[in-house]
Amino acid sequence: MNKHYVIVGSGVAAVHAAKAIRDQDAESEITIFGEENHLPYNRIKLTKGLFSDLHSEKVLIKKEKWYRDNRITLHTSSRVAAIHPERLEIETADGKVTAYHKLLLCMGARNRALTVDGASLNNVHTIRGLGDADRLKAELTAGQRVVVIGGGVQGLETAWALHEGGYPVTVVEAAPRLMARQLDETSSEQLHLVLEQSGVQVKLHAGVTAITGEESVSGVVLDNGAEISCEHVVYSIGIIPNTDLVKETGILTRSGVLVNQHLETSAPHVYAAGDLAELDGRVEGLWGGAIEQGKVAGTNMAAAEPADYRRPVPVTLFNAFGISLFSIGNTDERECDRSVAGELDGVYTRIYIKDNRMAGALAWDGAAASLLYKSAVEQGVSLEGLDSESFGLEEIMAGVAARIQ
Ligand SMILES: Cc1cc2nc3c(=O)[nH]c(=O)nc-3n(C[C@H](O)[C@H](O)[C@H](O)COP(=O)(O)OP(=O)(O)OC[C@H]3O[C@@H](n4cnc5c(N)ncnc54)[C@H](O)[C@@H]3O)c2cc1C
Repeated sequence: MNKHYVIVGSGVAAVHAAKAIRDQDAESEITIFGEENHLPYNRIKLTKGLFSDLHSEKVLIKKEKWYRDNRITLHTSSRVAAIHPERLEIETADGKVTAYHKLLLCMGARNRALTVDGASLNNVHTIRGLGDADRLKAELTAGQRVVVIGGGVQGLETAWALHEGGYPVTVVEAAPRLMARQLDETSSEQLHLVLEQSGVQVKLHAGVTAITGEESVSGVVLDNGAEISCEHVVYSIGIIPNTDLVKETGILTRSGVLVNQHLETSAPHVYAAGDLAELDGRVEGLWGGAIEQGKVAGTNMAAAEPADYRRPVPVTLFNAFGISLFSIGNTDERECDRSVAGELDGVYTRIYIKDNRMAGALAWDGAAASLLYKSAVEQGVSLEGLDSESFGLEEIMAGVAARIQ
């Protein structure tokens, strides 16, 4: 049999895997099957640029010509319905069978469903694909009120886009603070203030117990009994990897498809990458991780010597409500030895220290400023000699800057 690399799913992990395969193997056939009816696109734009033209070529990861030039066959609107690792074959929903010699699973994830009463009413939305964003925009009419459930990055970006679009927005979050995974308490509180000053209502410690309405939404009921009237709900409460396809195959899964450092699954010749894959008990669910996993999986499918996947330092850049924030690496105080916070050039900043190295950082600053902190965390810059309690943030960061290679 000729070599045939087959990739299921057409997100960012798939595109980077196909590129990595082609870099290693100039000749063999590469085929991607994607169920969406678009070329692979930049999914994170769906919230960051909700009201921009999401069908523009600018949103594509690669233009059509790139697939042609690299002899990568991309089947859109083509759902893979079954995989048969014992026969080295996959089958699409139209019954067509395709043989592979190496298979990569990149089916990504879906949004965790809201399970309260009323969740299936019209005008309850969640955004995972381009179709979801299109539908939300088509169903909104001027002045309608929206409740956004989820005060994480995606929820807040959605709230910002809707607010900018002129829709009155309330954010409802079950946790005691906003963006709790990325920010410290001080920053969460400040962010809360910024949202309220811009006219977005925020309800914290607020679990949603029901969505009311006849056919369409009329309100959201909270666990304290309060009801918020609205015409739309958009929720963003986490993800679930799309493992259904592998359920009957014997390929091992937990939350995601289990992989090792080489991104191999438990079945021979089958790899997994991106939001679908679970490594060391963790599904990353991040754009940067999906790119890196796609590259490593693609390389390992085609190269003689396997490469290990190294988790990239997670970076969150938040630009909304007229502010810029970044959060890098580990910003969980409980997992670090200590943190140092203060104003640096007038900007609130906190660095997190573990084993005398910089483990993470957050600051009210933009992408350019984040690079120093990203390099420091990536390189694990030693804070030896800068670690005394008497050193302030300014002295520590000056020392860090001098030590970065
Ligand atoms: C609105 C939004 C905003 C985000 N913002 C950020 C952000 O700011 N920062 C960040 O780091 N991450 C962000 N993410 C997460 C990021 O987009 C994902 O981590 C990344 O897209 C994962 O890439 P992937 O290729 O693994 O999967 P996906 O992008 O989910 O792609 C998987 C593809 O496979 C297709 N598929 C599934 N099953 C089948 C099948 N049986 N047959 C064929 N095709 C199939 C799916 O339809 C989909 O097109 C965001 C996600 C969303 C939805």
